[in-house]
Amino acid sequence: MTRSEFKSAARRTYWIGLIGIIGCTVLMALALYWFMTSTIQAEKQPNLATEPVPDGADGARYGILIGLVVGASFGLPFVLFMTLSNRFFGLRCPNCHRYITLRCRPEIVLESGHCPFCHTKLFEGGED
Ligand SMILES: [Zn+2]
Repeated sequence: MTRSEFKSAARRTYWIGLIGIIGCTVLMALALYWFMTSTIQAEKQPNLATEPVPDGADGARYGILIGLVVGASFGLPFVLFMTLSNRFFGLRCPNCHRYITLRCRPEIVLESGHCPFCHTKLFEGGED
């Protein structure tokens, strides 16, 4: 591989992964919005003047559920899209076969010219 091949592969995997993450985050935000509006509408609003205040157990359960959904909506797409982007568009070290496009900082790999895992020389020829 050459330096320019590595540069374009690193850029491609980064942008495809990022676009996937943003798209999935928007979808999850829309799903969360739909979930919250539908449950709020379905919930009977308590009249605080006549009914006792709820003990908070339902609120805690609801908060845990929303926390899990929000956490998963940010964590899972990040891991999923970066992994898929790296797998389909990334480059591997010819010696140790580890992915070197997203798992390592491209500028460090370009500067050293070696695999950060096994230190094999990656680029053939001279500069660029
Ligand atoms: Zn290697």
